[in-house]
Amino acid sequence: MNIVIPSENTQMQSIIEKVRHGQRLSLEDGVFLYQSDDLLTIGQLANEVAMRKNGKKVYFIENMSLYFTNVCEAHCAFCNFRKDEGQEGAYTLSGQQMIEYVEQHFHPGVREFHIVGGHNPHVPFQYYVDSLAALKQRFPEVTLKAYTAAEIDFFSRISGLSYKEVLQELMKVGLESLTGGGAEILSDQYRKKMRVDKADVSQYLDVHRTAHQLGLRTHTTMLYGSIETKEERIRHMMHVRELQDETNGFLVFIPLSMQPINPRAGIRRRNSAFEDLKTIAISRLMLDNIQHIKAYFINIGVQLTQVALTMGASDAHGTIVKEKISHAAGALTPEGITREDLIWLIKGAGRIPVERDTFYNEIKVYE
Ligand code: SF4
Repeated sequence: MNIVIPSENTQMQSIIEKVRHGQRLSLEDGVFLYQSDDLLTIGQLANEVAMRKNGKKVYFIENMSLYFTNVCEAHCAFCNFRKDEGQEGAYTLSGQQMIEYVEQHFHPGVREFHIVGGHNPHVPFQYYVDSLAALKQRFPEVTLKAYTAAEIDFFSRISGLSYKEVLQELMKVGLESLTGGGAEILSDQYRKKMRVDKADVSQYLDVHRTAHQLGLRTHTTMLYGSIETKEERIRHMMHVRELQDETNGFLVFIPLSMQPINPRAGIRRRNSAFEDLKTIAISRLMLDNIQHIKAYFINIGVQLTQVALTMGASDAHGTIVKEKISHAAGALTPEGITREDLIWLIKGAGRIPVERDTFYNEIKVYE
């Protein structure tokens, strides 16, 4: 059933027709949607696409976020997580220390470790291999979704290995998927201005391409809401869409709303609710070849996440347990959420909660 009423605006009407006929939206269409203040039409159209792809199902996972080290050689202007070696608060955990941390917080429902961290040049690549190996040995049943494409690029630089060789070494000890971080905005101009001194646009995409060629399915993000233009956001989505056409390796697209604490990034305000919802809806409309768009409650709040589930999002992320990166940057949300609260949130939006694994295989449907 079509629920979007015909628009009197001819460009909006043409976009509605394209979406209804399964035609791909252009750069101009995406920029037009950002310029429009007709959130209800955009959201309803995104909802139609989400329902077509996933019905009423909204997915979540019981997972734990882990951070081996916050020591980082990069200096991304928006980051408040990184530390220099020796600086107060800097840490680098051994595999054993990480296991002790996990044992304190673990419960048997956890089926994924989400592992990211700084680019610590004071430990060798073998440290990152051994850390994963230790976790896998102690928790063999838990999926290791580990490292960003930027971290893989960093490992390649410190080890002298190719992306393929780095990934193969990590896969040997249990790597099963890459996290989506490190994308920020896929624009070299943006990266220069925001001092994103790590993997550039083509390197970020190359790492994911290589991972997909090796049989890994991966995640991808977009950190929006600072100095980037709306056109840069749409071009970012199109980079992702093009690679997905080539490899079909992305599981989900995750729009991350920028948190405003770091004055070096020149961000004075949080994104508005309107901007967050529009970005999720436009992502759903632009990324016709990606199965899921995630509403990340850590960055946009639990209430807005619930609304986003009616405007294109089909994934409510997971329990997390203790998030650190967005909270270092000023997130006001809880550091984690319980399974019961996630189910409540999804049901409250009139959707069907589905507990999943990392690869969106269904574990349990909560009708
Ligand atoms: S965002 Fe990641 S790579 Fe950039 S400074 Fe922070 S920890 Fe380092």
